[in-house]
Amino acid sequence: MIKVDRVVRTTCPYCGVGCQMDLHIVDNHIVKVAAPFGQPPNYGQLCVKGRFGTDYVSHPSRLRTPLIRKELGAPRQPATLDGFRSASWDEALDLVAQRLAAVKQAFGSDAIASSCSAKATNEDNYLFQKFVRAVLGTNNCDHCARLCHAGSVAGLQRALGSAAMSNSIAEMPHLHTFLVTGSNTAEAHPVISLFMKKAVANGAKLIVADPRGTEMTKFATIWLRHRPGSDVALFQAMANVIVTEKLYDRAFVAARTEGFRAYSLGLAPFTPEWAEKITGVPAYAIRRAARIYAQAPSAAIYWGMGISQSTHGTQNTLSLANLALLCGHLGKPGSGLNPLRGQNNVQGASDMGGLPNVFPAYARVDDPVARARYEAGWGGVQLAAEPGLTITEMVDGACNGAIQAFYIMGENPLMSDPHLAHARHCFANLPFLVQQDIFFNETSAYADVILPAVSFAEKDGTFTNSDRRVQRIRQAIDAPGQARPDWQIIADLARRTESALGRRQSAGWEYDHPSAIWHEMAALESASFGGIDYARLEREGGVHWPCPSADHPGTPYLFTERFPRGKGKFHLLAYEEAPEEPDPVYPFILSTGRVLYHWHGGTMTRRSMLDRIYPEATVEVHPADAEKLALQEGDYAWVRSRRGRIKVKVLVTGRSPQGTVFVPFHFAEAAANELTLEQVDPVAKIPGYKICAVQVERAA
Ligand code: SF4
Repeated sequence: MIKVDRVVRTTCPYCGVGCQMDLHIVDNHIVKVAAPFGQPPNYGQLCVKGRFGTDYVSHPSRLRTPLIRKELGAPRQPATLDGFRSASWDEALDLVAQRLAAVKQAFGSDAIASSCSAKATNEDNYLFQKFVRAVLGTNNCDHCARLCHAGSVAGLQRALGSAAMSNSIAEMPHLHTFLVTGSNTAEAHPVISLFMKKAVANGAKLIVADPRGTEMTKFATIWLRHRPGSDVALFQAMANVIVTEKLYDRAFVAARTEGFRAYSLGLAPFTPEWAEKITGVPAYAIRRAARIYAQAPSAAIYWGMGISQSTHGTQNTLSLANLALLCGHLGKPGSGLNPLRGQNNVQGASDMGGLPNVFPAYARVDDPVARARYEAGWGGVQLAAEPGLTITEMVDGACNGAIQAFYIMGENPLMSDPHLAHARHCFANLPFLVQQDIFFNETSAYADVILPAVSFAEKDGTFTNSDRRVQRIRQAIDAPGQARPDWQIIADLARRTESALGRRQSAGWEYDHPSAIWHEMAALESASFGGIDYARLEREGGVHWPCPSADHPGTPYLFTERFPRGKGKFHLLAYEEAPEEPDPVYPFILSTGRVLYHWHGGTMTRRSMLDRIYPEATVEVHPADAEKLALQEGDYAWVRSRRGRIKVKVLVTGRSPQGTVFVPFHFAEAAANELTLEQVDPVAKIPGYKICAVQVERAA
């Protein structure tokens, strides 16, 4: 029997459930992953990614030294690793600092773009945005939250004034009634799906609204299979039923909301019969779902990227918020508005100010009081008051010359951006690109300097999961080669950039441990984080923010007394079609998403043993469509849009409705985003990944 050197408690590096896991270490390798039974949020459960997918940290292709492109500058061709040479940390960081300083001095601060990371810790992200704002002088800081839940954030901010998941995962097994929409929960958030199934086994009623048949539809009391993109029509018709049949919570509406009168009068045309024509869902089913949701003593709504990744993502979210406000299903256990966050720390990266319009804890950069607090806290610097660019705007800026340098930590936009041919063209034209990551990926091919970072298992820090629970990660193994924790790289780079700018060296970059970074952040945002420190996380395992003081228990569910904006606001919504609908040349709707065995751009899972189970991209084709196209299971097909084409293996299945095909977005050699549209939601600026028009043809 192998003798384990040590067992280290940490947090899963994959999805936003934030499962607690014990890494069993032998000879600096993870040999086994187990889950502690008594520990929230997963109570002993792990999915296949957490249990078997962490071996990527020992993959031989890990970056070990800083790399500098042999031929610097744009325009450039994408390079393999052979196009780079190894460099010392001093050479690489001095080069980056001098180039960033030169761009700032020649073109101004806003010619620099940056992306922090939903995979990195809270401390890494706090320090990253501090460097970008306090040293580089711009608010051009964003991350992949823009690409997954920006629609949810914008909608919830407008309706309630707060965008986080309102209720906790721990409440799920005890739900009375719940609605799941736009979420393939069993594959994207598998441990949450177990708690949902437990709720159904305990007698809960489950409404699933989804064009695609998923594991959760098998457990549904009622499945509303609406047409892709018709979410607003469906949920506004449910609201029509609730108002018409007087099923709404009058006391809650009177005390806690505003705008009800105009909203309820405006709902009159949005009948279930009107919605049936748009959604394809029978009017009687819409009425039944509305009654189930409204008549429950408490009911929760959960959604994923099927709602938010839309050119109408803000509207979709508002249509769900309207339902919760109508029925008073907020501010109590088993209720709420709950966007299921994608990556391990996408909640935390947003909480830490990794967004162009806010500091940590969502303090607005254009609020003079917040700005003054950060100017004082960060050593008397002057901070920009104008919100910065979003990630898609920054990529466009690289094309038109507005952006002269881009610093990317732990993200891979050349897999995650829509319309990849356009994104590649932009990166080829960018004068200077710095990438900080654990692997060489599709974006690294365009970099000038690559900085090797460490994985979740090689550093200390905190992640914040989807239900706002701050939890520790702990170093379990040594990092490969010269790789360094992100926070150390950023602090070193900040000192060198200050020097390159001719500034007096500030004392703001001396940290001996991530706990000191957390302490600085929590002191600036004490109303949200003042009661959380590393000692408390050691004792309690995790704490839900807001937690303003050491004697505060944390906040598993929000909005008991009031909403951050005061009263919840109703929004009457217009139904609008998707920007690209099928036509005779491109007759299918393409939808994209995840499979159980892989994660996002595949950078990690495709270097784990999971890749042996699901090694290549697939396209789901309905049996009736497959027959017309003469396709059989296992054939290969070209999927083409107006922007590109990919060759993928055919799965014949009724999971997607006739006329819709589904492609997972994890596979670089058949990247779904070669096909997707770059059009964005006008408010949230999130691209509409879920709908574009494609043709499908048997490949030779
Ligand atoms: Fe990790 Fe999410 Fe799976 Fe839990 S459910 S083990 S957090 S990927």
